[in-house]
Amino acid sequence: MILDKDKTSKILKQLEEHKNRDYTFSSGRILGSMCTEPHPIAREAYLKFLDVNLGDPGLFPGSKEMETKLIEFTSKLFHTPKTASGISVSGGTEGNITAVWIAKQITGGKELIIPKHAHFSFQKIASLMDIKLVPVDLTSEYTIDINSIRKYINSNTAAIVGVAGSTDLGVIDPISELSEICLEEQIFLHIDAAFGGFVIPFLENHPSFDFSLSGVSSLSVDFHKMGYSAIPLGIFFIRDKKWLDEISVESTCISIKRQSGLLGTRSAGPIAAAYAVTQYLGYKGYKKVVEQCMETTRYAEEKINSIGLSLIREPVLNILGVKLRKPSKVIELLSKKGWKVGDMKHLSGIRIVVMPHVTKKVIDEFIPVLEEVCLEVEEI
Ligand code: PLP
Repeated sequence: MILDKDKTSKILKQLEEHKNRDYTFSSGRILGSMCTEPHPIAREAYLKFLDVNLGDPGLFPGSKEMETKLIEFTSKLFHTPKTASGISVSGGTEGNITAVWIAKQITGGKELIIPKHAHFSFQKIASLMDIKLVPVDLTSEYTIDINSIRKYINSNTAAIVGVAGSTDLGVIDPISELSEICLEEQIFLHIDAAFGGFVIPFLENHPSFDFSLSGVSSLSVDFHKMGYSAIPLGIFFIRDKKWLDEISVESTCISIKRQSGLLGTRSAGPIAAAYAVTQYLGYKGYKKVVEQCMETTRYAEEKINSIGLSLIREPVLNILGVKLRKPSKVIELLSKKGWKVGDMKHLSGIRIVVMPHVTKKVIDEFIPVLEEVCLEVEEI
């Protein structure tokens, strides 16, 4: 189709006006998001697959093969057994929905045991699936209190959730212990590794958190977080591919007889983007990205301490929680100065996620502004 030049330029101008009002990752000013500017190769790959619908994979066998290869690449990070399978999802929320959906189908249970720091997507799950959430207290280290879990387990328990890289502080629940309990009690264990899944495997001496623990039933991870790729994409893994039957339905008018998972029509754009990034970076490239983010996290911690502020707890991954008495005021003033940090009023703090776009240079620019704002509200 030949586009009308005048109309096109008018519309593009409108789009630009909208976009110009957004904050950008490339400016470094977004400090409180788990997303980042995708790797440059992601953009090109995404556009090439704009018209491909992987909800109807029989029409797009080449793209389907690319998705299979992407899932294979990702699965190697999590020691998936031969019986396992993975499916693409739109992100952490859908990954968690899928896990609980399967667990509920298998067990018939209607209670979900979650750590108090579990992502708010579990609230949606409770509402959608008529599930009762059973929140478990955290320890002084902000991880699930393993000693109090057993008292919540009963015949109505659908699953237990462990988080590997919590939304607030990036902590990792004691997954080995959770795995032991779930094996003993025969309970479905889902690991929400939406953020940590692309960080933890690349850290030296990291704790076990994946299918290497035989009690882990499912795990989800996001490419649009530390997977360094485009929104929206996550991968959901399940220990036994037969369990996917629980969430598959007969499909008509498309090229396959059954479709598994929540989404119907879904773009191959994010899959192509992620595939391109994995091919470009390889496991070694991802390790470098993580090492750089962790080094910048330590650098930021020193700088924060140097202006008289302290952290809520020592960082485990590339997330910093800064302790404040008046976080709302600080957030408001930082925002006026063009800096967007994460709101953690519930922990009396702010969150800084050291994503690839948050470099040492960005930290050097941010710290004097944070100091100025904190002096103004008498935090320091
Ligand atoms: N799980 C965790 C641990 C998260 O941090 C997030 C988002 O921050 C989610 C799930 C939800 O991910 P999404 O917003 O991609 O659905």
